[in-house]
Amino acid sequence: RVLVAGSANLDFLTRVPHLPAPGETVLGPEYVTAPGGKGANQAVACARAGGAVAFLGALGPDPFAASLLASLRQSGVHDWTVRVPVPTGAAFISVSEAGENSITVASGANAHLTPEHLPGLRGLTHLALQLEVPLPTVGAYARAAKEAGLEVVLNAAPAAPLPADLLAAVDLLMVNEGELTALAGPGEPADQLAALSARGPHTVIVTLGARGAGAWHAGELLRVPGHPVRALDTTGAGDTFAGVLLAALSEGKSLGAALRRANVGAALACTRPGAQPSMPARAEIEAALGA
Ligand code: ADP
Repeated sequence: RVLVAGSANLDFLTRVPHLPAPGETVLGPEYVTAPGGKGANQAVACARAGGAVAFLGALGPDPFAASLLASLRQSGVHDWTVRVPVPTGAAFISVSEAGENSITVASGANAHLTPEHLPGLRGLTHLALQLEVPLPTVGAYARAAKEAGLEVVLNAAPAAPLPADLLAAVDLLMVNEGELTALAGPGEPADQLAALSARGPHTVIVTLGARGAGAWHAGELLRVPGHPVRALDTTGAGDTFAGVLLAALSEGKSLGAALRRANVGAALACTRPGAQPSMPARAEIEAALGA
């Protein structure tokens, strides 16, 4: 069973002709709201892909919290959330006609998830973390889970410098291309992945957008080509990748098989708008894998 600990946000989504430059105002037609936040997204993607998963996150005393919980429950995620006296997190997302996005996150309650909120870890096999909650919390959770013998999975997003003791407690690190260069410095991807692996994680995965994903594991580079789709909105693609990967790994699938499922699942999520609403069910992933 998987525990995802991290952020939950209500997303406000607007389509725009192009992403605004600094100082620029861009007009879009209207906004829609959708449940989001990297932590909640990854938990939902994991559950939809068939994983047994609980979500630990901090929510505020407002109606947004109830709609986030409803989405988690509907997808079959076990609710391990805590309440704090700060507004629930919100994200303001613009999606361009080219399918690119620009995101501002108001952390709110997410900034108040603390080391003390971590429950007992018995019965869990994997702990999944991201960087939308305070770094000391992420570090404390990673070390506690490592000590308890769990596999610790960190999606180092959004990009931030990682303390050495955090990386040392991570078993599987997952980044996109920008985050890879932010963490490892410029270079050939294989060298960047190997350099990060040398700092702790036995596996380092890089997602490559439409080009799929790569992974460094046991001194070898694995490559999964992109699954061709008509991308409409890539919001939540990385989170879907992470969630589907967690579901597959927690079932005992090999790294290669888990990467292929995650890649197909994330590609499917790009064909529909939003983060959680776009995430595929297990049957859809398996149909696309078989096709
Ligand atoms: P992030 O959205 O976190 O920056 P990526 O852009 O690397 O991460 O996307 C994550 C994953 O989503 C990719 O590894 C790939 O599996 C899938 N993906 C993203 N964009 C596309 C696309 N245009 N076509 C097919 N798959 C995509």
